[in-house]
Amino acid sequence: MNAKNLSERLKTVASFVKKDTILADIGSDHAYLPCYLVHTGIITQGIAGEVVKGPFESAQKQVRSEGLAQQIDVRFGNGLEVIQTADNVQTITIAGMGGPLIASILEAGKEKLSTVETLILQPNVHAKAIREWAQKENWKIVNETILEEHDKIYEIVVLQKGEMKLTEQDLLVGPFLKQGKSAVFLKKWTNELREWQRIMDQLNKSAVSGEVQQKKEELERKIALVKESL
Ligand code: SAM
Repeated sequence: MNAKNLSERLKTVASFVKKDTILADIGSDHAYLPCYLVHTGIITQGIAGEVVKGPFESAQKQVRSEGLAQQIDVRFGNGLEVIQTADNVQTITIAGMGGPLIASILEAGKEKLSTVETLILQPNVHAKAIREWAQKENWKIVNETILEEHDKIYEIVVLQKGEMKLTEQDLLVGPFLKQGKSAVFLKKWTNELREWQRIMDQLNKSAVSGEVQQKKEELERKIALVKESL
């Protein structure tokens, strides 16, 4: 993968970016996504934020080698702290991390979201944490998609400001994804159900305790919610 030949996962994230928006890509190891967006004429300027020195330097190197230093500002810092109000950022992308980490980055930096219109988030796991954060902070899901690449399944959740009221099932599987019921969606949850059933079989063999009972009930609840959505 490189900035001109992006993974399907990042290309799908890119497909949600509005033309000429001012973008910040947070956790931008190699800055492939912002470089691709400039090369394809979707954006003219952007910020790439990174908190780890190695990936930060890779992003700087990539941006320089692509001749994009005037368009993409690579900044070192934790989460949204790299964004200033004067940047007037309109779109934030955060891809390739766990849902809880993405939600914690948004929570810690929520005062930086005043100019932001769209959040495009690609959690590798536990997208539920993002939907829960969004509902609590008055962001609503305007689009979702799911894709498979190299035997891994990825969800992408697109948020804009506004209220939503999601059911427990929507939080878990995604309201748009549930509607679409794509083959990848069905595959993801069939795999999860198989894994949860395996865990349930183990729990059934464990000595009875309050903790085991609680885990079983949580698992039974999730299994029922997912089965109803398929
Ligand atoms: N976004 C790229 C992608 O999707 O291919 C890179 C994903 S990489 C697995 C996750 C990157 O996020 C790492 O480079 C990591 O250093 C960075 N990261 C993790 N937590 C971060 C934070 N709080 N602020 C900025 N970057 C962070």
